[in-house]
Amino acid sequence: MNRVLVPLAMEAAAPLLGAQVHSLEGQTMGTTWQVRWAGHTMAVTAARVRAAVQDALDLVVGQMSTWLPGSDLDRFNRAPAGSVHTVPEAMAEVLQAACALAEWSGGAFNPAAGALVNLWGFGPSPRYTDAGFEPPSDAAVRRAWAHTDWRALRWDAMHRQLRQPGGVLLDFSAIAKGYAVDLVSRRLSAMGLPHTLVEVGGELRGHGVRSGGQPWWVDLEAPPLAPGQPAGPATRVALHGLSVATSGDYRRVFEHGGVRRPHTIDPRTGQPLANGLASVSVLHTECLWADAWSTALCVLGQEEGMTLATAHGIAALFVQRERDGQLTETLTSAMQELAE
Ligand code: ADP
Ligand code: MG
Repeated sequence: MNRVLVPLAMEAAAPLLGAQVHSLEGQTMGTTWQVRWAGHTMAVTAARVRAAVQDALDLVVGQMSTWLPGSDLDRFNRAPAGSVHTVPEAMAEVLQAACALAEWSGGAFNPAAGALVNLWGFGPSPRYTDAGFEPPSDAAVRRAWAHTDWRALRWDAMHRQLRQPGGVLLDFSAIAKGYAVDLVSRRLSAMGLPHTLVEVGGELRGHGVRSGGQPWWVDLEAPPLAPGQPAGPATRVALHGLSVATSGDYRRVFEHGGVRRPHTIDPRTGQPLANGLASVSVLHTECLWADAWSTALCVLGQEEGMTLATAHGIAALFVQRERDGQLTETLTSAMQELAE
């Protein structure tokens, strides 16, 4: 039996009679984006949609990219100790969410973990895939770890000012894709498009309905029950006023398959993840939160992750790789409520 997840609330926008589904795609943040919308062709042109999407993505990259020299985040990371920086609005929103989740998760999610991310070759350079790349020594991990305290960032929310304590490297890669999805989605809605499905790098947010009154159905790829075995039951989600994000070494998702390499660090130990968790999928109204929570829960592992997600009412699905290679699934009660 396949599992079907549907939201508890319905959105107000009425389905459009005779609407067609349109689709656009492109590249951003080292990955791909895709936007679909149901609408009448003449109402909003594809060129206008593409321009709006590009503008929103450019805004996120220009502020929050670790990869783009001169982004606001890059300039903060390179700034001297004690310097104070005015943070643009979108980046401030992401920073505040990231720091809140860092507190809740006891640092399992850490937006100031850039020094460790780089050390393990998951940053811009050197890459762990480069010839001759060596995992760092314990001493190097300890040195980097000393610069990953998000609490040392002095944040003045009123004036949107952030102080660089010295050597702290912000990394929003585990949350910025989700934020970009939210921003694109909001911009499309403001253009008069209430029926949209937005995806950046496998993180998705859907609103309204596609043609025929159906919601935007998205399949979470089913894990194979055992190595070499066929896939188990699939999970189908109606993204109706809902976002989904997945983290993990097993790529559970969506339309672009492909195996992921684990590129998440446990900032509490300074080591890459090795907790046997294959993936965590999170459903949330905001894709920013789905994205960030999926990474946080992945770091915490199934047991601790289930406890924290349950305490915060988060809809999460954990896929654990057992010793014998079997994969087992666990759902929080908020996720179970969405299952028919
Ligand atoms: P996933 O989709 O598997 O969550 P993401 O691309 O969303 O992957 O996030 C992984 C990226 O986040 C890493 O490449 C790194 O830049 C950053 N990162 C790694 N570990 C952490 C962590 N514990 N907290 C916050 N960000 C992290
Ligand atoms: Mg993430």
